[in-house]
Amino acid sequence: MSASYGSTNSFRVAANPAGSLPFPTQPLPALPPKWSAPAADAPAEGIWADFEQTKICCTLAACGDGLHCFRLTKKLARALGPGTCRECHQALVSLERTGQRDLRDVDHTFTALQVEAIRHYFWHTPFGQKALDYAQRAGRRRLHERTPKRIRSRIGKAEPFRDGSQTPISPMKADALDFALHAVAACCRKCAHYWHGLEMGRPLTEDEIAYLSELARRYLDARMPDLPEEGQRVPRRVTATAPDADGNVMPMPSASQSDNAPLSHRHAS
Ligand SMILES: [Zn+2]
Ligand SMILES: [Zn+2]
Repeated sequence: MSASYGSTNSFRVAANPAGSLPFPTQPLPALPPKWSAPAADAPAEGIWADFEQTKICCTLAACGDGLHCFRLTKKLARALGPGTCRECHQALVSLERTGQRDLRDVDHTFTALQVEAIRHYFWHTPFGQKALDYAQRAGRRRLHERTPKRIRSRIGKAEPFRDGSQTPISPMKADALDFALHAVAACCRKCAHYWHGLEMGRPLTEDEIAYLSELARRYLDARMPDLPEEGQRVPRRVTATAPDADGNVMPMPSASQSDNAPLSHRHAS
């Protein structure tokens, strides 16, 4: 995996920072350097090598490695408090605190998010080629501009279509904004609900979208510290077709329906 991505991109990405696992959970460190520290790309080893063999999903947990899952079923929620892992039943994070949505507390929020396996994965796994190309074509400025639009279109409505599966999870299919949405728990209303205290069944307010956008921007800035301000030309890649999870063969990469269609036309040769 490590050799197959990033070689043609001119900006550094902070991926899989050394020493990030197992993640210390009790007590939460005050200011973890890892979410802002650029680090060289590293080959997947240890639990990351395992993750390459595992289907990444919202209920992923590797409790022995300090990576948990806080999405409780209704039944579990009656027995366990918020911030308790659905697998090992340890109370580990204060979702009441992250639900304050206070940017002054963002270090704690980012630390807490990374205690969850699915978030940790998106904080540390290397970006896929699609995400790198997307970011480079957009540049930092447009990536930042698109963030609230993406959040609004994915989770802004009271009842998003197929909530829980609207943000691609596979690094082959996820673009840079999709990575950010998973990392900061703005991928679906269920995740935004338990992490950020945003009630389901009503539209998000502009303030709430602005808060989630700021988290996503900080994630992108942390993980792509050298992304140029303006977009750059990236040639369209010729990729083989591959079956998706359901066995359907789709041409790749597929452009995101929402906001990068003009780009893919612009760069078509
Ligand atoms: Zn656990
Ligand atoms: Zn989600």
